[in-house]
Amino acid sequence: MNKMLISFLVITSCIFGTYYFLSTNPPDLSANAYCAFDDPKVLNRQKFYEDDFVLALYTHKPILPGHCLIIPKRHVERFEMLSDQEIAQIGIVIKKVNQAASKVFKTSSYLLLQKNGLEVGQTVPHVHFHYIPRQSGDDSTLSFLVKMYLANAYNPISEVEMQKTCEQMNDAMKSDLFDSSKI
Ligand SMILES: [Zn+2]
Repeated sequence: MNKMLISFLVITSCIFGTYYFLSTNPPDLSANAYCAFDDPKVLNRQKFYEDDFVLALYTHKPILPGHCLIIPKRHVERFEMLSDQEIAQIGIVIKKVNQAASKVFKTSSYLLLQKNGLEVGQTVPHVHFHYIPRQSGDDSTLSFLVKMYLANAYNPISEVEMQKTCEQMNDAMKSDLFDSSKI
């Protein structure tokens, strides 16, 4: 069996497995459900950037090195519920995160992913943009998609690695390079 066929079968199994799991165990997106992105323990461990409206976190189960989350500070469930100011600031922070990650992780391409609603797989009731970068010359797009679907099965990275990565990203975010008026 060639690699393409194996990858296709893995992706298909993951899609149907995820669909089955979500249809039998729908996540609780109600207003009073626990929200990891408002939990001080989570934020203290994973946050590497903060301003008046937006936070940037390093994910505890990175699909690839440099996988970050950009979220509004305010608890907002869906993209269309954000204020114009929050949307604008999230865009600016995504740009900064990209510049920092390309410096820290030597990445070039990147994927932005943001879900709104159960039917598209939203599991945390708080707007979050996944920023998932890749280095030039990384393996195929298909294997990238497989990694994406398998991400939840990964073990979380260690506390030491999380702390080191947050420090590197925090330093890179402070660089003069990020004067957006110059870009
Ligand atoms: Zn929240």
